[in-house]
Amino acid sequence: MTKKKIVIDLKEIIELRHYFHQHPELSNNEFNTTKKIKAVLTAWEVSILPTGLDTGILAEIKGKQTGSIIALRADIDALPVQEETSLAFKSLNSGIMHACGHDLHLTSLLGAIKYFKDNRDQIKGTIRFLFQPAEEAGGGAEQVIKKNVLKDVKAILGFHNNPNLPVGTIAVQSGPMMAGCYKFEITIKGQGSHGAKPEKGHDPIIAVTEIVGALQTIVSRNINPQDAVVISVTNINAGNVWNVIPSEAYLQGTVRLFDEKNAKLVRQRLFELTEGIAKAFGQSVEIGWSERALPINNDSNLTQAVINNLSSTVHKPLLSMAGEDFATYQKKIPGVFAFVGSNGAPDVADWHEPNFVGLDETLTTGVDYFIEGAKGLLAYLNEEMK
Ligand SMILES: [Zn+2]
Ligand SMILES: [Zn+2]
Repeated sequence: MTKKKIVIDLKEIIELRHYFHQHPELSNNEFNTTKKIKAVLTAWEVSILPTGLDTGILAEIKGKQTGSIIALRADIDALPVQEETSLAFKSLNSGIMHACGHDLHLTSLLGAIKYFKDNRDQIKGTIRFLFQPAEEAGGGAEQVIKKNVLKDVKAILGFHNNPNLPVGTIAVQSGPMMAGCYKFEITIKGQGSHGAKPEKGHDPIIAVTEIVGALQTIVSRNINPQDAVVISVTNINAGNVWNVIPSEAYLQGTVRLFDEKNAKLVRQRLFELTEGIAKAFGQSVEIGWSERALPINNDSNLTQAVINNLSSTVHKPLLSMAGEDFATYQKKIPGVFAFVGSNGAPDVADWHEPNFVGLDETLTTGVDYFIEGAKGLLAYLNEEMK
């Protein structure tokens, strides 16, 4: 059944999108962005709740009817990327760009606020609007949770624009959507010596190169072939001159996966292989492992409630190996996260690339997603409370 589309005038929202795109700010530095959002909300007479956050905002609209409290979330930060697009509204801040399209997320949320402030009779409950800082650098969602911003919120809704999907489409499913993201660091401590006298030392370069190869066997030999897992070593450092064997070698990299049980397994094998190889070469090792984002995992009942209420074409998503800190909220409260098509051209530039272009038309779908999704969630949660 095709739902009737909500029609709202997006002229002001598109202008705001251009403003935010021209004035991008890095994670935890979104001071001007926060100020601008605040000014818009104040002009619209929408109430802003105290959060204790340095950047980011929580707004609230109470419906005319009672019901559950839900939150709609958009991230607001940009990246240290020099924009190379030919957009008329390209970044004015040198070396900083909305290369992940968070400008589209935050203005879609403003569009939903603009609609709901004039249609409070359509809200059966309360909607909180969360403009979250620092998604890119990590830690933004964690900061929000630590400040208890989501107290009493029963469900949370968010999206990421996706340039690989055509404008007008939404991709969502219950269960996994985006990967969990982990960082590892390994320091091998050997013993340096003259390049001509390797027998006098314990060469950490030999150990580190063995480790790089061995880490690749985790996916091929330990993980169920039907599960998607990526292990990438992205940085190696050892020595600084041609005729000296160094005493230390360092490497770091990332692991991406959808099933948290595989995180435990990868971590265990990474430690076993690294410590075993270091020992075999007479060296010691320090290993660091940290979780940067959990896998996005959509609640099945809520996802169905959202999908049932959407007017856009809905597809099954292609899972993304990229991470998103929306998953941090889903650890606390059930939530739904979707991809909203933002371009769809054949050779389109992807997230974080200097030529990334999310089209203005994305806003139509983004705003609808928030409005229709919020109504779907509230209808479902209120029914459950009965
Ligand atoms: Zn990003
Ligand atoms: Zn992003």
